[in-house]
Amino acid sequence: MKQDPRLSEIEKNMRPGEISKSGFLGDDERKLVDILLDDGQAVTALNLNHKILADRMEEITAKGREGFGNPVLVDGYLEVIVEDSRGTIACPFQHMGMYPKENVKVKNIKTGESIHWTALNIHMIREHGFYEGIGSPFRVEPLDLIRILEIKK
Ligand SMILES: [Zn+2]
Repeated sequence: MKQDPRLSEIEKNMRPGEISKSGFLGDDERKLVDILLDDGQAVTALNLNHKILADRMEEITAKGREGFGNPVLVDGYLEVIVEDSRGTIACPFQHMGMYPKENVKVKNIKTGESIHWTALNIHMIREHGFYEGIGSPFRVEPLDLIRILEIKK
């Protein structure tokens, strides 16, 4: 799809070494507009939306923080560890404000599958529908997220 020049500017910010060392796009060769469209469709195909996912991630993060770096069992099936790695990072969509770099690790103890995210992931999913490019170390694969957290409409 044709990409708005503003999105191209944002895409430039997402390259390695601009805002973060590893960048946000991994080795994904799709344009940003197509990454956003594809992930948006994957989520809406399941009758979910970015806000539902972000709300659940936020809720799990908040409960996990109570462990101060130690594992917390959330809702009986998720083992959550929130590691504060210090420092903050800016949103590549050129928002005001900085997001803590804490790393949230979540394991579904029934299936053994795990996933991780940061506060910036939650913000970008909620506000921009952006899960990062494929191959990015902080990509949150929407279908993995939905399956591991057992999010249902
Ligand atoms: Zn933003």
